[in-house]
Amino acid sequence: MPHNDDTRYHIAIIGGGVAGLGAALEASRWGFETVLLEKGTLCQATSANSLRIIHGGFRYLQTLNLHRVRKSLKAKQELLEKYPQIVRPLACVMPLKKRGLKSRAPVRAASLLYNLLHYWETGTAAANRSLTSSEVDRKVRLLSGRAPHGALLWYDAHLIDPQRLCHLLRQEAVQHGAEILEGANVTNITRKRGGFELSYSIEAASKTVAADVVINAAGPWIDQVSRLTDWDNLRPSRRWCLAFNIIVPRILEEEYAVACEAAGQDGKNRLFFVTRRGRETSIGTGYLPFDGDPALAAISEQEIQDFVAAFNSAFKEQLAIEDVAGIEIGVLPLAEKTGASLQLVGDEQIFDNQGFIEILSTKYTTFMPQAREVLLKASKYLKSRA
Ligand SMILES: Cc1cc2nc3c(=O)[nH]c(=O)nc-3n(C[C@H](O)[C@H](O)[C@H](O)COP(=O)(O)OP(=O)(O)OC[C@H]3O[C@@H](n4cnc5c(N)ncnc54)[C@H](O)[C@@H]3O)c2cc1C
Repeated sequence: MPHNDDTRYHIAIIGGGVAGLGAALEASRWGFETVLLEKGTLCQATSANSLRIIHGGFRYLQTLNLHRVRKSLKAKQELLEKYPQIVRPLACVMPLKKRGLKSRAPVRAASLLYNLLHYWETGTAAANRSLTSSEVDRKVRLLSGRAPHGALLWYDAHLIDPQRLCHLLRQEAVQHGAEILEGANVTNITRKRGGFELSYSIEAASKTVAADVVINAAGPWIDQVSRLTDWDNLRPSRRWCLAFNIIVPRILEEEYAVACEAAGQDGKNRLFFVTRRGRETSIGTGYLPFDGDPALAAISEQEIQDFVAAFNSAFKEQLAIEDVAGIEIGVLPLAEKTGASLQLVGDEQIFDNQGFIEILSTKYTTFMPQAREVLLKASKYLKSRA
């Protein structure tokens, strides 16, 4: 639909990361007149810095969060089927422990349960299983000699090209009639005529747009956008953390993504995920306390050194700080009531304040089911209009 100042949309979406784009695609597919306003360029913020793992949900069995397990494995399958050129199966390996939840017997039971759930939900086999230590020594160079109790082999998926996915989502949304504006910075939100009016600046001009429903998908700027409203959003301020991956310009492990826990010299326990990206390797994810403007998130040389030292204590392969060719940084929400620890928000959260719907997104993996949930809420206000 061509945009002019009198246009009233069904849905206006703020933020063109994967959460906002997913919502724009879903909204336009449902037949709603949709506009998306992105202050920069699409998918250049948190969505450009993910580790690119599409989690199949096995890890959520640890907390017996079956809802999340099923949602993730279905989301993974949906992405594999819809975008086979850029989402590929990823074989992952993690050393087992001698005792506890990550030892052989509980992991074997969890694999059995997961394989059943996978078959039940998707009609396809998951084939998670354990490897003996000699299998690990033969097959997984990076873990050779490091898995005396064997390892778990499971299958997640890998997003090969996030920019291409962004392009495909945009293209599909536009084909369904969505209007997508880049360089459109939303500066004010008011309730008007039973809906909303959004002011935004674009190419040094100030404009407005009206919509029946607003979706705030501004990622780490969600609270800033909430504060642009002319009514009181009384949600308490959220805590955030900085998350980062490092990029090493060589292949550390050919065939498998490798997960391994280690305590660094700073005493922090970290889970490293090492994944090949073409001729490079990404290693993530590190977390640091953060409180500030997400656009200015940065890490110090010392923090990179601590991360590299912890990596070196987990693996035989040793890295030097000079091996770090790139760093990907984003800002993620922390769970409330976690004191000083950096406990991330688990499942995404969706808040609906009478048609002002906010998405606190926590994973790339589930952006499609998340968009459907958001649209179910939005459609309550729009039933008679589409
Ligand atoms: C280091 C790291 C590793 C990760 N690894 C994984 C992983 O392996 N697997 C996984 O599933 N997830 C992973 N994640 C999480 C995942 O990347 C995020 O959950 C997801 O990308 C969030 O997307 P989003 O659209 O909510 O936010 P964003 O991508 O940040 O998008 C928000 C957008 O809103 C725009 N915006 C803000 N304010 C305004 C305004 N006033 N007007 C207009 N536009 C505005 C911003 O410019 C931005 O483009 C990782 C995250 C990080 C940081």
